Amino acid sequence: MKGERGGFRPLRREQLFQELVHDSYKSSRKLSEPTRCPVCGAVFRKGRWTWASAPAGAHEERCPACHRIHDKFPAGYVTLKGEFFRAHREQVLQLVKNREAKEKAEHPLERIMGVEDTADGTTVTTTNTHLARDIAEALHHAYKGDLDYHYNKEDNLLRASWSR
Ligand SMILES: [Zn+2]
Repeated sequence: MKGERGGFRPLRREQLFQELVHDSYKSSRKLSEPTRCPVCGAVFRKGRWTWASAPAGAHEERCPACHRIHDKFPAGYVTLKGEFFRAHREQVLQLVKNREAKEKAEHPLERIMGVEDTADGTTVTTTNTHLARDIAEALHHAYKGDLDYHYNKEDNLLRASWSR
């Protein structure tokens, strides 16, 4: 299964900023500018995706975030668990969503893909590793608890686990 590859290894938090490489999940050919994503409306211009508006007749192509959503292939996973989490689930998930809203407003490719309950907690999946890291750091900043990261450099996938 595509989402369950091996190759994950633990990563110290201070290593993260150096290690997270630019997301390679994009088309192999160069995009013409401007390109507009027909799904979400993000516009590729000056080498990056923004929420700017595109002129009529702009080239159309799905952005990397919509591509991942379509393929159901997240780049980031944040697992939330523990007694504190169970007792404050709604409040914690609200913080997660606020964080996404803040990041997404500036970076169209940073989005939550899904929030799924598992046997021992909840997993939030994201379209990009940076958002997974930002969510995990925001949780740790707000509530303390334990935080650890596993990173698969080959495929640029990040798994963050927060528990309290
Ligand atoms: Zn899009």
